[in-house]
Amino acid sequence: MHSPSSEHEALCRRCGRCCYEKLIVDAYVFTLAKPCIHFDEETRLCKVYPERHTVNPRCLTVAEGIEFGVFPADCPYVKGLRDYIPAVEGWLDDDIAREIEMGRLRTGEDVLVEMRRRIRSRKMES
Ligand code: SF4
Ligand code: SF4
Repeated sequence: MHSPSSEHEALCRRCGRCCYEKLIVDAYVFTLAKPCIHFDEETRLCKVYPERHTVNPRCLTVAEGIEFGVFPADCPYVKGLRDYIPAVEGWLDDDIAREIEMGRLRTGEDVLVEMRRRIRSRKMES
């Protein structure tokens, strides 16, 4: 998920956080721990960048990314945008994704509560 214009590209910090899979649960867009298959986690860059929209039809343009809320809160593309709701990070894991699929977590709020609970318990374990 990067920009088609050099103006946008100059803003991008190449953090790569918009290139992780997303899960939409009612009004929330959650960022999963799993990256797009075309993303190189070492370099934090797209491996097919010039032809990304052909290779991956699900790769969004910047305008679409803003519309769907896939950028994190501190992404320069959405800085200062009024009414923009950023993607929730916290690296939703497979367990939570399964709970959502099985209908145990029904709303975005349910997912947030469960994410926070797991983050807290992970911190207590470490
Ligand atoms: S194809 Fe995947 S890795 Fe490349 S820009 Fe799009 S989402 Fe990111
Ligand atoms: S989240 Fe924003 S800054 Fe980070 S790679 Fe995506 S577009 Fe660039």
